[in-house]
Amino acid sequence: MDPIERLKAASDRNALKLVEAREAGRRVVGHYCLYSPVELVLAAGAIPVPLCGTRAEPIPAAEEILPRNLCPLIKSSFGFAVTDTCPFLAASDLLVADTTCDGKKKMFELLAAYKPIHVLQLPQNQDPVSALPYWRNEIVRLKERLEREFGVVIGDGELRQAIRVLNRERELTRRLMDTAKSDRPPLTGHEMLGIMHRLGFFPDKAEGDALLGSVVEELEARVAAGESSVAPGRPRILLTGVPVGLGSDKAVRLIEEAGGLVAVFESCGGYKHVFQVDEDGDPIEAIARAYLATPCSVMSPNPGRLELIERLCREFRADGVIDLTWQGCHTYNIESYTVKRFVGEQLGLPFLQLETDYSESDTGQLKVRLEAFVEMLG
Ligand code: SF4
Ligand code: SF4
Repeated sequence: MDPIERLKAASDRNALKLVEAREAGRRVVGHYCLYSPVELVLAAGAIPVPLCGTRAEPIPAAEEILPRNLCPLIKSSFGFAVTDTCPFLAASDLLVADTTCDGKKKMFELLAAYKPIHVLQLPQNQDPVSALPYWRNEIVRLKERLEREFGVVIGDGELRQAIRVLNRERELTRRLMDTAKSDRPPLTGHEMLGIMHRLGFFPDKAEGDALLGSVVEELEARVAAGESSVAPGRPRILLTGVPVGLGSDKAVRLIEEAGGLVAVFESCGGYKHVFQVDEDGDPIEAIARAYLATPCSVMSPNPGRLELIERLCREFRADGVIDLTWQGCHTYNIESYTVKRFVGEQLGLPFLQLETDYSESDTGQLKVRLEAFVEMLG
């Protein structure tokens, strides 16, 4: 079977395998953000699962409690708890959350009524003198909570092993995305998103990483052979901004239906996520340092995002940049002005901001704007 089809088929069984692993005594930790250090979860012998909501279905139930004008990602995440419709959330013994944006951190207070939750107090900037020691202390607090909760001791050896496992996984994910650097990318951006979305849900990391490894080898071979499912000459777009996944993939789909190619995802499900943690030093310090460097708009200031956009535009030869923001997301919406100026003035590239939600109500209007943008790039 084709490695991509094999990965998809295996991922369809992940919810069931998670239940089986739990029945066999494994503990499960759900997390909501790229700032949550999953190395600690692995080192505690537990299974990490990402829980950020990417589906529209649970939003009406969330709106019975949360304000309607909130970011759809927050409403979707909370709606899954209210409706009890996410098998990964249902299987979680503990939730790990971070005080990122205002909406998320206040939602987590309400989420505590549904599941035990540990909230990491994330600093608002990345200053190595003030913020880093504070964040390191938060990582230690999480380690102590996991030890108490699961009756384990997390030593430096377990942490180093977890760092190695996740570094390898992130390196494979980087190689996966890098296949789109080719003039003839083997996949469309939407196909790439479909693979990346599934990667986080494997209860058995070794199985997930082996499947990912075979997909990477297959795609690298297709690049070497010049095989591509993408029509040549499509304008290459860097997509930055809020996280996207299956269910919240409307913008990616519409960009590609308009004739563009999402060559690279800068967002936290994409390139922001493929950092490496130092394998040799103090593991807690190394984890704190690597995670705090995540260039998300919740940081003030957030220069790392512009540096990353600049590097990715060069490496992936972007013809234009699209900044996706969810309605109600103040940090990304406000930062969009800075990104627009940077992309136009420093990189000399066309820029478009899209503000939308998970519904299809604005699809027609987005389509018209995207067709005009892609035509201009062509
Ligand atoms: S966009 Fe920022 S706050 Fe939201 S999940 Fe990603 S890293 Fe966390
Ligand atoms: S997209 Fe924005 S508002 Fe929504 S959870 Fe992330 S940072 Fe918060």
